[in-house]
Amino acid sequence: MADMSQGRKNVPVAGSLQPNTQTISGSKGLDFDEPLIFEMGEDGRSGIDVQPVEISPSRLGGMERKNKVGLPGLSEPQVVRHYTRLSQKNYGIDSGFYPLGSCTMKHNPRVNEKIARMQGLGDLHPLQPQSSVQGALELIDTLAHWLKTLTNMPAVAMSPAAGAHGELCGMMAIAAAIEASGENRTRVLVPESAHGTNPATAAACGFTVDAIPATEQGRVDIEAFKAKLGPDVAGIMLTNPNTCGLFENDIIEIADEIHKVGGYFYCDGANLNAICGRVRPGDLGIDAMHINLHKTFSTPHGGGGPGAGPTVLSEALAAYAPVPYVVHGDDGFKLIENKKDSKDLGDAPFGRLKGYHGQMGMFTRALAFMMSHGADGLAQASGDAVLNANYLRTELEDTLSVSFDGLCMHEVLFDDRFLKDTGVSTLDFAKAMIDEGFHPMTMYFPLVVHGALLMEPTESESKETLDLFIKTIRGLAEKAKSGNAEFFAAAPRHTPRRRLDETAAARKPVLRWKPEAEE
Ligand SMILES: *Cc1c(COP(=O)(O)O)cnc(C)c1O
Repeated sequence: MADMSQGRKNVPVAGSLQPNTQTISGSKGLDFDEPLIFEMGEDGRSGIDVQPVEISPSRLGGMERKNKVGLPGLSEPQVVRHYTRLSQKNYGIDSGFYPLGSCTMKHNPRVNEKIARMQGLGDLHPLQPQSSVQGALELIDTLAHWLKTLTNMPAVAMSPAAGAHGELCGMMAIAAAIEASGENRTRVLVPESAHGTNPATAAACGFTVDAIPATEQGRVDIEAFKAKLGPDVAGIMLTNPNTCGLFENDIIEIADEIHKVGGYFYCDGANLNAICGRVRPGDLGIDAMHINLHKTFSTPHGGGGPGAGPTVLSEALAAYAPVPYVVHGDDGFKLIENKKDSKDLGDAPFGRLKGYHGQMGMFTRALAFMMSHGADGLAQASGDAVLNANYLRTELEDTLSVSFDGLCMHEVLFDDRFLKDTGVSTLDFAKAMIDEGFHPMTMYFPLVVHGALLMEPTESESKETLDLFIKTIRGLAEKAKSGNAEFFAAAPRHTPRRRLDETAAARKPVLRWKPEAEE
């Protein structure tokens, strides 16, 4: 075996990955420098004893493989350790504080997982006869009832598979309603602080995106918004609370104005966890809003899913909801999969958004979260999330530069003015946080401020965790302000890999291992 304990052979390290040079092995403490399984492999090594094979004369007539297959040869313990270590490299909400803003990384109660795995729920098949899945249909119907009650909206489409998918659902419903009215509305107004999925969704539905500037207070510039209104406006996509962590105070006026010109109000409901049980979006005049079950009602998310983005719809849009729908009749629960089967659902569907009935596992987790908290518990959770964010804000506002004055909602936005003339960037600062055992906050988003640092503690974190975080951030900020640019530029130090060239990693990803001989 080569000179490194994990068997990394002398292979060039991809791109500009810098291996940690401060230890002989490349590992840090018991955090291992884990090579690729291909780098560890050794010809002839195997997890089991294989009998020598007698090669019979080839009948492939010269078509046989000339090169080795290139599979790595490893012993069983090597394989077990490799994959165990890889699994331990995942940083998640169960490992520690995860302060990403605009993501809502909150604790996922274990009771949800237990219920989602119960045989009667976990082993369901989407093609089972409806008579055999009455309980599951009741679960979907009950969750729909909670969502409509919490938002005060008359209808909900349950099938969208994530927030962005819910946006697509809502905007397709708006497009269908406009088409049915015979009007020609092509423009969608989107505030410049919006999540990238908002303009992407509007564009995907064939609308042109018209950006509304933000005020000094980080909210929609109402005069600029009004100036953009006209008969060609299909609607507005507004996030509330917005991505600066602020409540849009003019939301009712915005709803009235958009309705006056015949447009629709799409509200991005990803931040419902800040207002759940306290404000009902239906009372604010919205027409469509997706709910990220995986942000507001726990359920794990990350790595691309699974999530769920049920979309509530107003009276005006309910008829344009996609199938399927659960209805409750005298003879039990029924899944309407074709609009022709139900008179009360209108006749202008845009069909299905996804196969089957939605993300059943997420529905189960979300309903378990709701029912174990109760309505009062949900209101308490959003109150605590807002309280925790404001605790970070007040404890850090003298250290960092807070972007907007006044109380924030569930997340607090800082910018990089506190790093002015220090030679330290938001990125350097975040890398130094990793050495201190903290996952960085969201950086450089939203774009309305320079060098954004967006923190969302959620209701999950204890005061002790937040206090250690605050102490660490204060210490690092002090260090940055007293001239330690080289220290920050060299962070992280305590990780097996140092600073990655993120641009090269995105632009020239090395996705295929080539044995040395082929290079
Ligand atoms: C997370 C988020 C989305 C997208 O939701 P996904 O479930 O990731 O598709 C959209 N808008 C805002 C404001 C968000 O925070």
